[in-house]
Parts: sequence; structure tokens; C-alpha cells
Amino acid sequence: MSGLPSIRIGKVFGIPVEINASWLFIFLLVAVTLTTGYFPQQLEGRSVLTYAVMGIVTTFAFFASVLLHEFAHSLVARAGGIRIAKITLFIFGGVSQMEEEPHRPGLEFVMASAGPGASLVLAALLFLAGEALYALHFTPVVIVVIDYLVVINLSVGIFNLLPGFPLDGGRILRAILWAITGDLLKATRWASRMGQLIGMCLVAVAVLGVLLFQSFDLIWFAVMGWFISGLATTAYQQQVVKSRLADVPVSRIMSASPMLVPAELTLEDMAHSYFLGGRHTRYPVIADGTVVGLVDIGAAQSVPRERWPHTTVGEVARRDLSELFVTPETTVDRVLPRLDPSQVGVVLVVEAGRLAGIVTRADVIRLIQETSGDAA
Ligand SMILES: [Zn+2]
Repeated sequence: MSGLPSIRIGKVFGIPVEINASWLFIFLLVAVTLTTGYFPQQLEGRSVLTYAVMGIVTTFAFFASVLLHEFAHSLVARAGGIRIAKITLFIFGGVSQMEEEPHRPGLEFVMASAGPGASLVLAALLFLAGEALYALHFTPVVIVVIDYLVVINLSVGIFNLLPGFPLDGGRILRAILWAITGDLLKATRWASRMGQLIGMCLVAVAVLGVLLFQSFDLIWFAVMGWFISGLATTAYQQQVVKSRLADVPVSRIMSASPMLVPAELTLEDMAHSYFLGGRHTRYPVIADGTVVGLVDIGAAQSVPRERWPHTTVGEVARRDLSELFVTPETTVDRVLPRLDPSQVGVVLVVEAGRLAGIVTRADVIRLIQETSGDAA
């Protein structure tokens, strides 16, 4: 994402949450700005310690607000049958990584709306809480913090509703255009163009701020705008590829009659006759005429070398294959998530109970290269 490493901080609702190193920069920036600038201005005459505690607590609450926004997206997506790989916080906020895109405009619409919806509802609740505490003459230390969080959540909600893909508002726009035209690619093209336009407008606002008012406060808009514009361009190109893949059945790109490894073969023999000089790095394992597993170099390497002559392929093969089986008619876009290097990286094409072929990432890359000749 930003090239920097991410650390996993835990799982919430079964979804892993990660923090990218770039996010720490924002954390520190917000904490320092609040402690040394914003809070002393809003509320005079408190101790440095008070401001520091307010700054740190508010920064954590800010962090929790962004997480809540992402969980709203993720939980709605999961309810709609889409698996969420993880949520990552990085320099520009949060991102929920879905293992696949929604297949219906209705689902995309509610998924995209859920995040800004959660932010705006939270802003409203915090506003009411702030008003109530004020009426009760509660300490202003808490009320100033709550007021700040109202503004933050309101900003997060409104900013994300800007109608440019891949912002939430752009996804909502795409879902509407998709529902009207029935053409996901066309809808993505228009929503992405809006994304590029909005990105450029943000850059323009920042430049005008500097030129007309000698103000650098809006520089962040330029950085954000540049980033969004780039994302919009990439997102559209990815959609072009995906749409092409949606027209191709796996039977067209699979390696038919793949080489099979007998389950009773030893790892030693397999290493010599399959992996050395072989074209593939993974092979289906067969016993009594049916596929019973999948074996790759990694599985062999998990066994110490000296035991290879005494260990059979069947003993180390991966056996849970249920999610790797597809029919020959399944389109390539549907199997893409399973071909990701972080997943198994292969699907098995089964026809009438027989293994008809095998599809790997390399087959898809070849297809993309063949069809990219006519890319616009
Ligand atoms: Zn969002």
C-alpha cells in the first residue's frame, strides 16, 4: 500500500486489524498538534499534563472512530457474503480489504454507505452527549474533547461521501450507475473519472490556498487529492482487466490433463521426477483414481531432507480441497481471489467428477498479456 510494513494489533469480530507504519506519522502529528496547539487555544489556563492527556485520549478516540467506520463497511460486507481479509489503518485513514468485489449493485450501495453512515451517526451521538454534559455543567476538559470528535467524525463522514471512486461516495455513485446501466465497467469508468476530477479539485484548492492566501493549511488536500486521483486511475484499469476475465471460462486457460502425483510416491522420488526440471510447483495428488490432495515444494520442505525417502506424498499433501474445485464454466474473475499468492494459488477444474484441468496464476497472467493488446 505505501511500501511500509504493517503490524497486526489483533482481531475484532474475527477480522484482523493491522496498522501500517505510515499511520504512526499521523498518530504523532494529531497528538502533538492537539496537545500543543488546538487544546491550549480552546481551553486556556490548564497544565501541560492536562493538555497532553487530552491530546493522547483524543488521538486514540480518533483512531477508534476510523476503525468504527471500517468495521461498518466490513460487517455489512460480511453479512452480504463477502469475506474480509483484514482492516488496515494507514496514513490516509482506513481500508477494509475485501477478498472479492460485490456482485450486485445493491450490496455495493449498502456496503459503501455503511462507513460514512456510521461516522455521521457517531458524530450525532457525540454531539448530543456533548450538549447534555454542557447542560449538566460538566468539566470543559471533557466537552472540548467531545466537540473535537464531533468535528472529526463529521469530516470523515462528509469527505468520504465525495462522489469520486474509490471514495465511498464514488462507490455509491458507481452502484447507482451500475444499477441503471447494468454495465459495471461503464459505471466504474464514470465513477473513476469523477474520482480523478475530485482529486484534481483538491489539489487545485490547495494550490489556490498557497497562491492567494499564502496559507499552507490546505497542503494536506493536495497530498490527498493526488493520492485519490492515482487510485481512481488504477481502479479503472483493474476493472477493465476484471471485466475481460469475466468473459472467459476457466476451461479456456486451464492446463488440461495435468500431471498427477500418486499418493504412495515418496517425497524423494517426487522431488526428482516432478519438481526438478518440472514445469509446475504444485501438483494434484491422486489415489484410486480420485484427487485426494495437493502437494507443493513447501509441503516437501516442511519435512527434513533425510526423511524424504520414508515419507509419502499422501502424508504431506494438503487435503482440504473443497474450496479449490470449480466447474469448467466458472469465469476467470471468480477464481482470481483463490489464485492470490497468499492463498493456495491454484484451482482444480472438475467435470463430471473427473479432474479436467488445473489453473494457476501463471495461466491468468498469460491470458491478461494476450488480451491486453487491444487495451485502450
Ligand atoms: Zn469508508
